[in-house]
Amino acid sequence: MTTGSVWEEEDFVGGHVALDFLNTAGGANKARDVERLVDYGAALRWGTATKLLTEDEASQLTRLAHTGPQTAQHALDSLRAFRETLHICLMAEQAGSEWPWYERSKVEKQIKAALCEASLDRGDERFLWTASAQQCGLALLLARIAIATESLLRSDDLPRMRNCERCSWLFIDRGRGKPRRWCSMAACGSRAKSARYYRRHKEGQNRDGV
Ligand SMILES: [Zn+2]
Repeated sequence: MTTGSVWEEEDFVGGHVALDFLNTAGGANKARDVERLVDYGAALRWGTATKLLTEDEASQLTRLAHTGPQTAQHALDSLRAFRETLHICLMAEQAGSEWPWYERSKVEKQIKAALCEASLDRGDERFLWTASAQQCGLALLLARIAIATESLLRSDDLPRMRNCERCSWLFIDRGRGKPRRWCSMAACGSRAKSARYYRRHKEGQNRDGV
C-alpha cells in the first residue's frame, strides 16, 4: 500500500474503480485512519492511474488548482467526504443491511449532481455519461467517481462485493470457487497467515511449557 505519492498495482485490487476509490483510505486493520489522498495532486495522480482522468485533463486541473488553492482543498475535502459516506453505505450493503438514511441521501445527491452536469455520449458499443472539465472544473474527478458509482450500484458486480477480513477495503469477488477473504494475498492474506502461524507457534510453546 502506498502513501499517495505514487500509485502502485497493489492499490487497485477492488475490481471496480468505485471500490478502488474507497480503498484510497485505510491501512492494515479495520480503521480508516490512513489517508492516501494526501493532497489534490495525489487525487489527480490516482485519477490518471485509474484512467478516470486523461493526462491532459490532470494537467489542466493542476493548473486550475494553482490558481485557487482554497478551491483545490475544497475539492479534495469533497472527494474524501464522498468516499467515507459511500464506504459506510457499501459496508452496510455487503453486510446485507439497510443503508443508513443520511449517508444514502448524500450518495444519491452526489450522483444526481454529477449526472446533471454530464452529457450522454455514444461510446463504442453503448451510451455513457461524460462529465467534462469545462462543466465541473476541479470537481471533475468527483463527478466521474460518482458516475462510476452509479454504474456499480446498478451492475451485477454489486452482490459479489466483499469486505476484506483484515482491513476496511472492499473488492468484487469474481471467483467461482471458495469466497475470497482478503483484499489481496500479498497484503492482508500473508499478514493473516503469518499472524495465524505466530498464534499456533505460541500456543505450541505454551503447551510445551516453553
Ligand atoms: Zn485487506
